[in-house]
Amino acid sequence: QKFVYSFTEGNKDLKDLLGGKGANLAEMTNLGLPVPPGFTITTEACKVFLETGSEPASLHKEISEHLDSLEQQMGKRLGQPDNPLLVSVRSGAKFSMPGMMDTVLNIGLSDASVAGLAAQSGNERFAWDSYRRLVQMFGKTVLGVEGELFEEALEGVKQAKGSTNDLDLTTEDLKALVETFKAIVLRETDREFPQDPREQMDLAIHAVFHSWNGDRARLYRRQERIPNDLGTAVNICSMVFGNLGEDSGTGVAFTRDPSTGAVGVYGDYLSNAQGEDVVAGIRNTLPLAELEQLDKKSYDELMAIMHKLELHYRDLCDIEFTIERGKLWMLQTRVGKRTAAAAFRIAVQLVDQGLIDLDEALQRVTGGQLAQLMFPRFAADETAKRVAWGIAASPGAAVGKVVFDSYTAVKWSRSGEKVILVRRETNPDDLDGMIAAEGILTSRGGKTSHAAVVARGMGKTCVCGAEELEVDTKRRRFTTGDGQVVEEGDLVSIDGSTGKVYLGEVPVVPSPVVEYFEGTLHAGADVQGGLVQSVHRLMAHADVRRRLAVRANADNAEDANRARRYGAQGIGLCRTEHMFLGEERRREVEHLILADNDKDREQALSALLPLQKGDFVELFQSMDGLPVTVRLLDPPLHEFLPDITELSVRVALAEARKDPNENDLRLLQAVHRLHEQNPMLGLRGVRLGLVIPGLFGMQVRAIAEAAAERKLAGGDPRPEVMIPLVGTVQELELVRDECERVLAEVAKSTGVKLDIKLGTMIELPRAAVTAGQIAEAAEFFSFGTNDLTQTVWGFSRDDVEASFFTAYLEKGIFGVSPFETIDRDGVGSLVKHAVVAGRATRPDLKLGVCGEHGGDPESVHFFHEVGLDYVSCSPFRIPVARLEAGRAAL
Ligand code: ADP
Ligand code: MG
Ligand code: MG
Repeated sequence: QKFVYSFTEGNKDLKDLLGGKGANLAEMTNLGLPVPPGFTITTEACKVFLETGSEPASLHKEISEHLDSLEQQMGKRLGQPDNPLLVSVRSGAKFSMPGMMDTVLNIGLSDASVAGLAAQSGNERFAWDSYRRLVQMFGKTVLGVEGELFEEALEGVKQAKGSTNDLDLTTEDLKALVETFKAIVLRETDREFPQDPREQMDLAIHAVFHSWNGDRARLYRRQERIPNDLGTAVNICSMVFGNLGEDSGTGVAFTRDPSTGAVGVYGDYLSNAQGEDVVAGIRNTLPLAELEQLDKKSYDELMAIMHKLELHYRDLCDIEFTIERGKLWMLQTRVGKRTAAAAFRIAVQLVDQGLIDLDEALQRVTGGQLAQLMFPRFAADETAKRVAWGIAASPGAAVGKVVFDSYTAVKWSRSGEKVILVRRETNPDDLDGMIAAEGILTSRGGKTSHAAVVARGMGKTCVCGAEELEVDTKRRRFTTGDGQVVEEGDLVSIDGSTGKVYLGEVPVVPSPVVEYFEGTLHAGADVQGGLVQSVHRLMAHADVRRRLAVRANADNAEDANRARRYGAQGIGLCRTEHMFLGEERRREVEHLILADNDKDREQALSALLPLQKGDFVELFQSMDGLPVTVRLLDPPLHEFLPDITELSVRVALAEARKDPNENDLRLLQAVHRLHEQNPMLGLRGVRLGLVIPGLFGMQVRAIAEAAAERKLAGGDPRPEVMIPLVGTVQELELVRDECERVLAEVAKSTGVKLDIKLGTMIELPRAAVTAGQIAEAAEFFSFGTNDLTQTVWGFSRDDVEASFFTAYLEKGIFGVSPFETIDRDGVGSLVKHAVVAGRATRPDLKLGVCGEHGGDPESVHFFHEVGLDYVSCSPFRIPVARLEAGRAAL
């Protein structure tokens, strides 16, 4: 097995083996771009190392061979005292994990070779600066020394000189610092900083391997649902130096603006600097455009390369580059992360440029991104006090209480508070807090800072580089430009689309994308540089491609109307329980439950009938011409009765006053009688319909009469009756008999011919397993995946999400809650079975899903794959479901 690939051997499609960074370094090398030579150690080697605790047997030799040829090519040997070859040891997994893994620069420097580097470069200060960086980075990431120890020592020297700029450090200062750093290493690890260059390299390689299993990396993978067993590759790359003087520097760039998608020059540049300096925010960077004045030749070459990369990858790319004494070097590229708005705009721009077709454009946007674009934003509020204007790093409008550390962010958010995490700059240790926060605000760093990159990845609102803020983490407060002090717990509002920061709570307004769906904004309107137009075009294409119909879960005319505007093709779930609430209705429901003879019961039912009918007339009117699936009463009866404690108190008080209320007493008895240990598994759904005579009959009558009324008025009502919680076909047959009797009666009395389908929910394992039998009595199935998930797993959703789900997520038992994304292997295979068995019995069986999964992107793909006819979800999720159904069909 081959474990090492030279940059000339790989290509961009080998990400599994070489990691994203290695595969793209190889791709750039083969495109003829100026990449410093090097080689990549595969993820396979990492896997062996992590499984067995040591390198694969052949690895050492293979590395030696590649190092030899690298040394020949460069004409110097690793760490050679008079003219050292230096390398970086860089992690690089298949998926980019910003800041999660460790990279060490300047490997090969030692007490001996630092002099050689000084002599060769003619720059002693540079050589010692590089050595200082090596000991610091190596100490921290390879040897595990607390990074702050080095930073404090560095700060100490700067303070003693009365400077904040690392460029003011002299060669002598740096020499002294190296000694200090080496002493720190010895003190903290009980070993000398290794002087042997190959030992440095091997230790760094092992550290990169290990970092795959670091806490931060694991947390990030869980968040991003990246599998744990991929391993990371390691790139050995010959060093080029941006810290050689004013004619050198380092930078990051995007081929278009990653936050809006606008075409142009975007990036940051820092002269006389190395590697991480740009993103670490140690000095203020220059906008990339200003590089043109500093070094026109490198700038022009960079622009040409960026253009070439974009055409080659046919997408937005981000890059890292370094200029060494006027010579440009490419150090990294990848298809860049972007905001949701940029994703839509760029996809459509590339279509217009003829680089991709609409299918591919559709593949490049996600339902999750569309959902983000539907977030509300801040109203232009003149009264809001703007206290800072930072960089718009990740869009959205976030309001919350200020916190200054991850721990507090997590603690407060667990107790239901919305928080904004405020830091000078973030680092991977802040990840927990960033996840917990509504938004992130930093006073340092640009669009490529850690905070910005991670927030964009998570879809979190972020404003970074708000420099007028003085953040004091220790005293838990920040000071604004005009001297106001904002303490922990104070409310702030941050706008990730503009970078503005306000004190207090600013009201929010709907997003233009929502206005577009609502029909209050014309698709041609020029909002945010064609954002709405881009959404419009991709939605239209998704509708062309998708096979799944999309319906809405809606119980009233208002939701139904909205659902139609958002593109719903009917109602997949109309819950009737809401129609039993409200003062008057509740009273009749109480009568129904308390009735101990036919007459009382019939009286209650006939009081409810016209109320139900009225609701349906309205609903059928809004959904005229489209199917409306009405679910008959589902929840346990106790939900319609007064709370047991309240009622007991009321009865006890009345008794104490010697004024007992007869009705309350009967109610209390009923509440006790209907009390269940496990109401979700008790008397509900079809079971209610079978034990309360006339209940379902009344509901069906209301539906049929409403439909007849609409028909007589010239409408086109299309109701379907759905029976919940069926476990066996016998239940359904009994209900079916009653329904048919009622429908025949209504047809006779109204003289209107009605075609109302009767179907069932599949939400119990037994129903799924016996779907073949159930289909004999059902004309359609609708999978109730919420209850099906509860009953398949044996979870009570209301209880477990708060109690042990976080532990399960942390332990990696779930990548994501099975209530959010369908559990394909368990719940999903029951769905699959029921689809096949049901259709075997009844080939024209209609199949849909009405659980919350109907609006979840990943689940929509699953429902497409198993061949359902439609998904049904809440009105706001309809655009997401349409888009994903289109993507699923590609
Ligand atoms: P990350 O994945 O965190 O970006 P990288 O491996 O890309 O880590 O390296 C960190 C920084 O060091 C980057 O700014 C990169 O450009 C720089 N760097 C890496 N290798 C070299 C090299 N051989 N010469 C100069 N700079 C390098
Ligand atoms: Mg990088
Ligand atoms: Mg249910």
